[in-house]
Amino acid sequence: MQQSCDKVVLIPKINRRIFLIMSGGLLLPTVHRVFAKQKNETMNNRYDAIIVGGSFAGLAAAMTLGRSLRKVLVLDTDKPCNRFTIHAHNVLTHDGESPASIKEKVLKELLNYSTVEIRKQEALHVSKTDAGFIIATANENYECRKLIFATGMRDILPDIDGAAACWGKTLLHCPYCHGYEVRGEPTMILATAKDIPEMVKLLSQWTKQLYACATDGKLLDASFLQLCEEKGVLVIGKHVQRIAHTNGRVSAVCFNDGTQQQVSVIYGRFPMEQHAVLPVSVGCVLTDMGLIKVDMMGQTTVSGVYAAGDCISPFRTIHTAMASGTMAGAAVNKELIELEF
Ligand SMILES: Cc1cc2nc3c(=O)[nH]c(=O)nc-3n(C[C@H](O)[C@H](O)[C@H](O)COP(=O)(O)OP(=O)(O)OC[C@H]3O[C@@H](n4cnc5c(N)ncnc54)[C@H](O)[C@@H]3O)c2cc1C
Repeated sequence: MQQSCDKVVLIPKINRRIFLIMSGGLLLPTVHRVFAKQKNETMNNRYDAIIVGGSFAGLAAAMTLGRSLRKVLVLDTDKPCNRFTIHAHNVLTHDGESPASIKEKVLKELLNYSTVEIRKQEALHVSKTDAGFIIATANENYECRKLIFATGMRDILPDIDGAAACWGKTLLHCPYCHGYEVRGEPTMILATAKDIPEMVKLLSQWTKQLYACATDGKLLDASFLQLCEEKGVLVIGKHVQRIAHTNGRVSAVCFNDGTQQQVSVIYGRFPMEQHAVLPVSVGCVLTDMGLIKVDMMGQTTVSGVYAAGDCISPFRTIHTAMASGTMAGAAVNKELIELEF
């Protein structure tokens, strides 16, 4: 089943016959052990699929592949984007649980599958081979036939004092994840002038005490300002200086003219970037939104490379990440079946 990977053997190769002749066979037991070890390490580090990123998308892909009797390795640095939040919501059977505890349960479930291996290592480099790919971490090289990126996105917070401390607690990104818990609260929207109209409409479903401030300082359309006035939304044309808070609990947004607006919640729409540079380095094309370009099953623009989770989707939830991970896992298994059957 495994394809020959002689070209990509990771341990320096010695010509066994020459070595035996030169040593007169005296070192035979040692040589046997050396070669056995080389073979073992090479075999051990060979996988049907490697998944880079072991959070919700990556672990869903791992379970699908592991259950398909595929030898799978997950490499993960354990830095999911939602690690700043205390409670995850809108996650069936886990509503209100901490993201870390949900992940812990998934990891426990995966222990049931001897086919799945998880290592806390950073994938640093990917190179293509005839048989698939080699993934390098700081201390090891791993070979695989198919590769899945489930590396997520990194949120780029604005350079506003207090933003980092409040992120995921009272500075939120998604009302579907946290809106119900802060419904009816005085809420500020921080986004570019282009994004504010859509966010005002969306968030007015959860609260009528809405304020908005354009982070790029651009002016909003006059007709939209008129609509805001009618709906009771206050648009503040000032520059945000800092967010006043206690242990991440927002109390006010403070402006550069010394005034402030008291709120207990802020929604921000900030830029994002790929968490890992590896997908691009191996040739994956990104969309205009900076997401990895994939087809319906997660196939990227590079043959044999799939992607799942936030790194391919603007709709960031645990469910959608898991769903796309499951699909990418199934697609990889199907591709391997097509090669083998
Ligand atoms: C603040 C916040 C709160 C949220 N709250 C909710 C919520 O309440 N409910 C909900 O449904 N959704 C919520 N989300 C969205 C949800 O967390 C994401 O959709 C989900 O985590 C995406 O899963 P993922 O596996 O695609 O990526 P991530 O969870 O971001 O995981 C990516 C993983 O890849 C690893 N990684 C990256 N590069 C490498 C590398 N080179 N080598 C090895 N490992 C690597 C990272 O360390 C990380 O573990 C929230 C998001 C944020 C930002």
